[in-house]
Amino acid sequence: MRSVRVALGERSYSVHIGRGALRELEQRLAHLRGRRLVLVASRRVYGLHARRLSALARLGPLQRILVPDGERHKNTRTWARIVDALVAAGVGRDAVLGALGGGVVGDLAGFVAATYMRGIDFVQIPSTLLSMVDSSVGGKVGVNHPAAKNLIGAFHQPLAVLADLALLHTLPAREFQSGAYELLKCGLIGNRALFGRVARYGARLADWPADELERAVAAAVRLKARVVAADEREGGLRRVLNLGHTLGHALEAVTSYRRFTHGEAVGWGLIAAAHLAAGRALVTPAEERRIVAAVDALGPRPAIADLDRAGLLAALAHDKKARAGRVPFILPKGIGAVTIVNDVSNRELERVLSVLQGARARLRRA
Ligand code: NAD
Ligand code: MG
Repeated sequence: MRSVRVALGERSYSVHIGRGALRELEQRLAHLRGRRLVLVASRRVYGLHARRLSALARLGPLQRILVPDGERHKNTRTWARIVDALVAAGVGRDAVLGALGGGVVGDLAGFVAATYMRGIDFVQIPSTLLSMVDSSVGGKVGVNHPAAKNLIGAFHQPLAVLADLALLHTLPAREFQSGAYELLKCGLIGNRALFGRVARYGARLADWPADELERAVAAAVRLKARVVAADEREGGLRRVLNLGHTLGHALEAVTSYRRFTHGEAVGWGLIAAAHLAAGRALVTPAEERRIVAAVDALGPRPAIADLDRAGLLAALAHDKKARAGRVPFILPKGIGAVTIVNDVSNRELERVLSVLQGARARLRRA
């Protein structure tokens, strides 16, 4: 078991990581004893893992609200359904909400916790690799709007995060792979050893020695905790976590969020970042190859060759973070460090997209 502290003054909390973390739940959450607990859970994950939660009921009166998961349910309708259930049950301000599930349920239940009665306490119990290393830590919560993902949200830090790696055994392979891209991203941003470990053990849970996975998740959480502690509300530094996400978001948007998992889109984005960085001599050609190989080693990703380049460039220009038409890019500086670059030109982008989409090879042949 490993614990990582997220240092945010009076909003500080710990992330407990390990196989069987939920067995220690009673002891980790002992300070909540006697308070009313409401567990908001993904119907699917609850069905698979309810028995691991038995200790929750020993802490105090427990009630559960099961919600469908899947990105299309991360909206104000499901948010309202959860709030209605809380009102109907007479849940007061002193209650503690537990969020069990992947990032969808964590973001959704977290947003309920942020808004119900102007904010109640909550605990994250992430059940996907992605939610363990990313969404459960840092306090960003919210729901989607038909016009854009995560358009409605808040910053609301949890009281604690319990990341039980045993939950991952039922996770579909593609979802584990998706989280592995975010792990790799964390390594590339600030931890060479983590990068090496992900490149070595890859995207199959079965290939990871248990302790190595625990170390990797803890390292990723430590990196995120450090960044969030320095910049809770994304004034500057927190943007480094978006390595690979600028192109990733554009790919997700132009395919209406149907073709790629988030991680797969980020995988493409990491490769693009490696090429852009090489073009500016921020990484050596050898490092560029190493990054591309590490991403590719995580398995096949849905293709992008058929995507309309103009559409992709337009989606990039629409990035939330764009200022004066220029999109800031987070680029690797070697392996284990990054830099923010604000002047990536359309020509550089077109060149990289043409490499990614394989057009260069086709042009040469023509
Ligand atoms: P998800 O929550 O949709 O879960 C993926 C799938 O795995 C779902 O079908 C779910 O039912 C299933 N599942 C979850 N845990 C399981 C388990 N243990 N066993 C079997 N099946 C299981 O996806 P995700 O990748 O965890 O999260 C994606 C969401 O996270 C997105 O909405 C994204 O916007 C959000 N996110 C938020 C932040 C943040 O800082 N708040 C950061 C990154 C991502
Ligand atoms: Mg992400």
